[in-house]
Amino acid sequence: MPEFCDVAVPVPLDMAFTYRVPPGMMPVVGGRVLVPFRQQRMTGVVVELHDRKPSVTIKDVLSVLDSKPVLDDQLLRLGRWIAAYYLAPPGEVFRSMLPLMAEFKRAIGYRISEPGQKALHIAGTTGSSRRSHRSPEEQAKEIQVLDYLMGGDGEWIPEGTLRSSLGISRSVLENLLRKKWILRQDISAAQDATRTVKVAVLKSVDGKLNDNQRTLVDTLSAAGGRVPVESLRCLDIPRTSLGTLVKRGLIEIVAEPAGFAVSRSRPGSSPFDFEFNRAQQAALTRLREAVEARKFSGLLLHGVTGSGKTAVYLAGMRAVLAAGRSAILLVPEIGLTPAVAADLQQIFGDEVAILHSALSGRERAEQWHRIKRREARMVVGTRSAVFAPVEDLALIIVDEEHDASYKQEETPRYHARDVAVMRAKMANAAVVLGSATPSLESYFNARKNKYALIELPDRVEQRPLPEVEIVDMRLEFQETGHEQVISRKLAAEIKDRLDRREQVMVLLNRRGYSPVALCRTCGKKLECNNCAIALTHHKREHKMACHYCGSTAPVPRACVHCGSEYVYFLGTGSEKLEELLHGIFPQARIARLDRDTVRGHEDFERTLHALDEGELDMVVGTQMIAKGHDIHGVTLVGVVGADAALGLPDFRAAERTFQLLTQVAGRAGRGQTPGKVILQTYFQDHYAVQYAARQDFLGFYEKELQFRGWMHYPPYSALANVLVRSDRLDDALQWSGQMGKWFAQNRHEGVRVLGPAAAPILRLKRDYRYHFVLKSPSREKLNLTLRALLAYAAQQKIPRTQVIVDVDALWLM
Ligand SMILES: [Zn+2]
Ligand SMILES: [Zn+2]
Repeated sequence: MPEFCDVAVPVPLDMAFTYRVPPGMMPVVGGRVLVPFRQQRMTGVVVELHDRKPSVTIKDVLSVLDSKPVLDDQLLRLGRWIAAYYLAPPGEVFRSMLPLMAEFKRAIGYRISEPGQKALHIAGTTGSSRRSHRSPEEQAKEIQVLDYLMGGDGEWIPEGTLRSSLGISRSVLENLLRKKWILRQDISAAQDATRTVKVAVLKSVDGKLNDNQRTLVDTLSAAGGRVPVESLRCLDIPRTSLGTLVKRGLIEIVAEPAGFAVSRSRPGSSPFDFEFNRAQQAALTRLREAVEARKFSGLLLHGVTGSGKTAVYLAGMRAVLAAGRSAILLVPEIGLTPAVAADLQQIFGDEVAILHSALSGRERAEQWHRIKRREARMVVGTRSAVFAPVEDLALIIVDEEHDASYKQEETPRYHARDVAVMRAKMANAAVVLGSATPSLESYFNARKNKYALIELPDRVEQRPLPEVEIVDMRLEFQETGHEQVISRKLAAEIKDRLDRREQVMVLLNRRGYSPVALCRTCGKKLECNNCAIALTHHKREHKMACHYCGSTAPVPRACVHCGSEYVYFLGTGSEKLEELLHGIFPQARIARLDRDTVRGHEDFERTLHALDEGELDMVVGTQMIAKGHDIHGVTLVGVVGADAALGLPDFRAAERTFQLLTQVAGRAGRGQTPGKVILQTYFQDHYAVQYAARQDFLGFYEKELQFRGWMHYPPYSALANVLVRSDRLDDALQWSGQMGKWFAQNRHEGVRVLGPAAAPILRLKRDYRYHFVLKSPSREKLNLTLRALLAYAAQQKIPRTQVIVDVDALWLM
């Protein structure tokens, strides 16, 4: 056994650390070990075993967690590639690749002891505990802890929950432990068990009850004797009341599995019931040939909206399964609803593992083990499913490859589409990128023959593409004399559809009621305390909210700056649009889809299902409505506001707008009736609007490429955004200044550096932000420059966590 091993631990440092392997321990490369790191114990992945004695003193491995690798050679290589390409710390890369770190995370729980209960009782009757040298504040804190634990129904309460709920320091808990008033235990195993709901079960109604206890018992018996404990909390009764009833044996608390409800709402038609048209058949043949070749090939499947791409994917996967090999299908976050999961289970049975965001850490780990044991060869999931530990990988499909949710917006900032291509290369597999609006990068690669281009030019069953009519909102203003949200043309078309009992979708890509609260006296806006962003008015919830950090504020009666009462709410969000439409069409049944009304996949699906069943006449919403399944009754799509992004300082704004407009237009007329789109815009002459109206992807692509070429933007160059941030303005200024000087004093041949400049959003989540944009035709040179920059920053003691390197950044805001 080699004497040393190098371990990648999940810390923001760009290196692995060497540890001694004590005699008898047998770590493996790609397996996990527990090691001491600074004052902590951490789980890391072994990246190398060797006998090279380091010059510094080193510590011993504490224990070996895996006797076999959890990351095989290929995934280790992929992880190293990600670390190098995205300049990400290797330990953090491996942590994102493995859903297993939770298995070994230590969790501590607390429970009240018998003496603790006595102490709490005494405190409750006399108003204070025994005479003590501790301050009244400390005593109050201790009583608070005991009270909280008392209400915990005898369960172990995790330390994190306790501390964040009560805002107490660890020393309070230490003191209580010393007095033996509370008990402590390692609850790691218990905490990660399958998600459960605690349910209160009524056992008896005998005995004397106080008012609170009576309310609890009555509520339970009215509900048939069983109520989730969480619902009882809404009664606003002290936690101790339930605790007392449990102790007296009147109520029992039982745990029941929560589970991800696989949908009940879809009929059992198999996606294989329909016949492939010629283009679909040709696409499937190409895909199968690529898989059978057993060497890398990339295919770009460009199919117009409604052309039946999904059926081609599923047929391709079924062929892979029949050959006894494995496939991965990546889907955007919102697309993986319970209905889709049900479809997949129907097609692939137990052979499919579905990795969706509603899984707990434990469930995710279970799915991971199923895949690793080769019980599930078909894997469907969002971004991180690209790391699924399948063997004999034959095919990776990236559905809606242009979707921004494939880019992880935290370290490691990888793009799952690009990782999928690299993984397919390493596995000699085929990769299929599919979209109605491919990203410029992917289409460019297809043009250069890096990918084979497969076109699905027609909608299934020869359904026509919708007709698009542009309404110039500047003219509308001139002709009507005031600012309109819904143009006369759109209102007339909606009325027409409602009269014909057809369905309508209206897109406004901004949520909330009004995006700005402005003071007419001093001219200032109400801004977020943490961000340089105007707060959005949410009328129904009666609050002002920041859409960037989530913080909220009360709705102002007067200006916070000058005290004036003349605060006006300007602009329109989806909530106000819904209200306006209710006003114009009082008979219509209208639902809204945005992040305020959709809390999970089930909400999203419920609304789409209601639309499908004809229980709704109209759906309004943000870009969310552009995604999802076929809706057969929608014959009119109104676009009220989707072009605001064109005014932003972001070189991808045109591409994003074109994609959104094309996708939402594709919602119209999928059934037997042809569709129509009314596109309201203030940017009537912008090419993104014009090409989207004509649904001319090629035209847009040529024009946009020309612009990108002139400006040296991707795909003609590799780009990275380097953000320097600090909650202290001085630090952010000083660090970005230092780095700016370094760029100026050192030659970086072939790399253009813009900045330092204030980021378009100068302050975000309390951090002041300055940034550099680096561009180079050579990815290698860009990477070298970034590497040198990080080395310089480390040498200048600029904290690594405050310098964010975003390679292939999607957002420069
Ligand atoms: Zn004011
Ligand atoms: Zn904010």
